[in-house]
Order: sequence, then structure tokens, then C-alpha cells
Amino acid sequence: MSTTPSTRAADLDAADPLAPHRDLFVGAETPLVYFDGNSLGRPLRSTGPRIAAFVEETWGGRLIRGWDEQWLDLPRRVGDDIGRICLGAAPGQTIVGDSTTVLLYKAMRAAVAARPGRTEIVLDTDNFPTDRYVAAAVAEECGLTLRWIEVDLETGVHPEQLTDAVGPATALVVLSHVAYRSAWLADGPALTAIAHDAGALVLWDLSHSGGSVELALDAWDVDLAVGCTYKYLNGGPGAPAYVYVAARLIDDLQQPIRGWIGHAEPFLMGPDFAPAPGIRRMLSGTPPVLGMLAMQDMLGLLEQVGMAAVRAKSVALTGFAIELADELLAPHGVRVASPRESARRGGHVTLQHPAMREVVAALWERDVIPDYRDPGGLRLGLSPLSTSFAEVETGMVRVAEEVARRA
Ligand SMILES: *Cc1c(COP(=O)(O)O)cnc(C)c1O
Repeated sequence: MSTTPSTRAADLDAADPLAPHRDLFVGAETPLVYFDGNSLGRPLRSTGPRIAAFVEETWGGRLIRGWDEQWLDLPRRVGDDIGRICLGAAPGQTIVGDSTTVLLYKAMRAAVAARPGRTEIVLDTDNFPTDRYVAAAVAEECGLTLRWIEVDLETGVHPEQLTDAVGPATALVVLSHVAYRSAWLADGPALTAIAHDAGALVLWDLSHSGGSVELALDAWDVDLAVGCTYKYLNGGPGAPAYVYVAARLIDDLQQPIRGWIGHAEPFLMGPDFAPAPGIRRMLSGTPPVLGMLAMQDMLGLLEQVGMAAVRAKSVALTGFAIELADELLAPHGVRVASPRESARRGGHVTLQHPAMREVVAALWERDVIPDYRDPGGLRLGLSPLSTSFAEVETGMVRVAEEVARRA
């Protein structure tokens, strides 16, 4: 390359139509380099005033009246927003509920019950831990077997692997759309079609996809999906997750945690449970209203910018990070452990080196915040609207310094 990394970063920022949005986030004015937007997104500046106004005016002013006036309906309203803005989902199929883990459990139990007589859940060995643990628990409870797809840690599930794993015994296929370690972007429509050809349902974990890559759940004919809101949807620590169930399935599904809020008539307070028609049956108890405030700010911004533009910036950021890794880090023995082909890469990049655990600890001391994932992986999560190319360059230079010091 003829120009220096910092000149290239400055040129990329100058040409980036989304660059001005970075100032909308808390902390943009500080020199901190934040490479963990895929674990916990930065708050928007508008979120503080939104939460304060909610306490003063809505909670403090409306009190119990708030439930009828807006809160009971909020999980569906925000769910529809997530569906429209991020998932490619028509209204009435997405709802905000419990944690990702709990929604995975409810969705998996509902799905396997909808495929009686089938005895297997198919999933991959590098699926996120919570997905693997929940699938194991569901299998144990329902007398099913787990069938594992062994995946390469630097890529993910390929269509031919799924074809080999599914069959007449498959009840459910559980896959991550973007792999949390490698960032492998699975082929959503192809893998969904393979599961359907075997007569199985498919459940996608969208935790690293929602708000980062483009999704078209309705067009892909997806059955169920669950995703996290504190990553690329900037909902804040512990913000509740969302679940999508295709309209063609929802009225035949029964999830296992039957609470009054998922009842057809919660305020009838009757003796027996009857599931609500539609997506509200995926709820169980009182909605986490406070937890749904911050994500509404990010959803508004994502809608204004559009997911296609967000994805284009994401690809440019991860592409620049890989270019700098080749230039600055490869000479010190660091390997890129994420797909180089942008069409198969989500919003983060993993860099592999035996010293990365210590490198990450040293970087945190220097206000460069990536995260560490075994074995030897430094993960750069580049949230498209809050990360600049200059930030990527500053951080990568420091990664190179810390790796070189240990080489
Ligand atoms: C972050 C993440 C989760 C998080 O689950 P919680 O219940 O919110 O802790 C689940 N699955 C994947 C793939 C994730 O990346």
C-alpha cells in the first residue's frame, strides 16, 4: 500500500455517508477505542433523556394507568418495529419477551412439540453455549437425541453438512445466523430450505445478526428465530430479547411457560390456561417495560439509515480491519480466523494468536476494548453506526504493538 493506514482511515471516514451518526452515541467524544459493540452496544445520547422522561412523566405520572394506555401492548409494538426494520418480517410475528436464553427454551420446546414422532434436534458444535445447553435440556425433557454437526471454528455450517445431518427423524434444526466466534454468515435461505425438505422446523439465533446484517425471515420462509437486543440494537445491559414465529405456525404452537400474560384473556383470571391467539402466546409474565426503552432509540436510527446502508458500512469496517491485520499483524504471526469473503462474514472479525489473552488484557489497560474468546481469539466487534475507520486504525496499531511486544 502506498499510503499509511492513518491516511487511508481518514479518507474512508471522509467518504463515509454514515460518519456523522457516530456523534449520536455516548462516548464518541472520548479517545476510547470500542471493539465490543457486538457484545454491548454504546447507548445513544437520546436514551438518557428518554429514560428520565419515562420515570418522571409516564411511570411517575400515569402510574398503573400506563399498563392499559401503552405498556401491555409494548412487546408487540417494539416487536413489530424490530421485524420491519431489521428482520424482514411482516407485523404480528415478532414479540419482545424474556432473555435470549429463556426465549430459546420456549421456542425449542414449542417447535419439537409441533413435530411429534420425530426424535432429533440438529445443531452445530460451535453454536453459542446457551443454545447448546438449552437444546440439551429440551432433548432430555422430551426424550430426544442431539445430532451434532462438527464445524470448522473459522467458518460455520455449510449447506452440504446440514443435508447430511437431517432426515425423517429431525424435529428441529437450531443454527446461529452469524457465528459468535468466527462471524461466519450462514446461508439463511439455503439452510432453511434443507431443513424444510426433511420435514423439520428451523430456529435461527439472530443475536449477532439483528441490526448488523440484512435479514429477510418472511422471504426465507423461516419458522422461528430468537435474537438479542443489547448487542447491535443497543438496548442496554440485560435488555430483553425478541422471538419471531412465522404467522403460518403461530396458532399451532404452544410454548411451555404458560403464564397469565400469554393467556387469551389475562384479566378474566379464569381457572384454566388458554393461549392468546397470535404471537402474544409466546409471552409468559409482565413485560419488561424499562428494558424496552433504549432499544427504541436505536431502532429509530436504524430505520432512518436503513439496514442496507448499515450492512455496507459494516462490510467496509470489517474489510478495513482485515486489510490492517494483513499489513500490521500477519508479520507477527497473527491469523485472520473469520471469512475473508464479505458475503460470508458478519459484523465482527476474530484474530488468532497464542498470546491474545494477555494482549487483550493489556489493550483494556490502554483503553482499547476488544474481547477474548478461546482459543487465542481477539474479537473485534465493529458496530457500524458508532465505529469510525480512524477508531479501527488506532486500535489495530495498538494490537500490533502489544502482539509485537510478546513475539
Ligand atoms: C449474546 C448471545 C446470546 C445471549 O443470551 P442471553 O440469554 O441474553 O444471555 C445467546 N445466543 C447468542 C448466539 C448470542 O450471541
